[in-house]
Amino acid sequence: MRIAVASGKGGTGKTTVAVHAAVTAASSGINSVYYVDCDVEEPNGHIFLKPDIIERETVTVPVPVIDESACTHCGDCGQICQFNAIAVILDKVITFNELCHGCGGCTRVCPAGAITESTRRIGSVERGVARIREHETGSKGSALHFVHGRLDVGEPLAPPVVRRVKERIPDVPLVIIDAPPGASCPVVESVRDSDYVLLVTEPTPFGLNDLEIAVETMRELHLPIGVVINRAGTGDDGVKKFCNREGLEILDEIPDDRRIAELYSRGELVTDGVAEFEDRMKRILEKITGMEVAE
Ligand code: SF4
Ligand code: SF4
Repeated sequence: MRIAVASGKGGTGKTTVAVHAAVTAASSGINSVYYVDCDVEEPNGHIFLKPDIIERETVTVPVPVIDESACTHCGDCGQICQFNAIAVILDKVITFNELCHGCGGCTRVCPAGAITESTRRIGSVERGVARIREHETGSKGSALHFVHGRLDVGEPLAPPVVRRVKERIPDVPLVIIDAPPGASCPVVESVRDSDYVLLVTEPTPFGLNDLEIAVETMRELHLPIGVVINRAGTGDDGVKKFCNREGLEILDEIPDDRRIAELYSRGELVTDGVAEFEDRMKRILEKITGMEVAE
């Protein structure tokens, strides 16, 4: 099962929920749990999981290279490009590689065979294993598999990095995807083939506004949704009223707790300092998967 953890905006506690859901599942003995960080513009799950990285790869996109001696300046390449990444001005073809999505359209339409392709680096993907402590009750813990992507500084194209990250996920019983915040292309790329989307929000007017947009996006994608309200007890009841009105299940309300904020700010797992947090994660997982998550 693939569970994507997403949020309409940053700073809601999305990564806290994604990381601890994965840790709880792995430490409860579910085999081959994957934590997959698709928040490639700002991946930070690794800060809490501290995985041993066993594989690194570079992510590139193909970009056009023009042979001016063969070019007839017909303009077809500029017309097919939807991203304004190639333009024919008088007798010169100009490329803007940072705008190029690597679709290959210009190469295909060029009647003179004047376009070849080279590659341009836009980011990287790392794969590894996080060592999860054995469960307190004595059941055998498992290693948590880890994959994340990182978009290079200044690069605008997150979706190809997200795609490469997801290509590294094997067919395993449980995958927790930490999606980017918002509702734009990298989010859609991250959640699109998930079985369930868990939306993390906070009970404020800003949280509600961004939750509404995220819910609309997930419904367009026909994905089942549940909501976790973080920092419950602060703000107002607008989010709860919205969920009730829209028939959205509230999977949990995590209270505003200074201990959680302190552990987070030190890059430590919340479950190491707030014992009941693991039970929360178990209940959330059980509600989503319908499986009993072992004690
Ligand atoms: S499509 Fe080919 S021949 Fe036409 S302008 Fe572009 S590079 Fe030149
Ligand atoms: S590969 Fe696609 S996006 Fe890049 S310049 Fe050619 S048509 Fe435009």
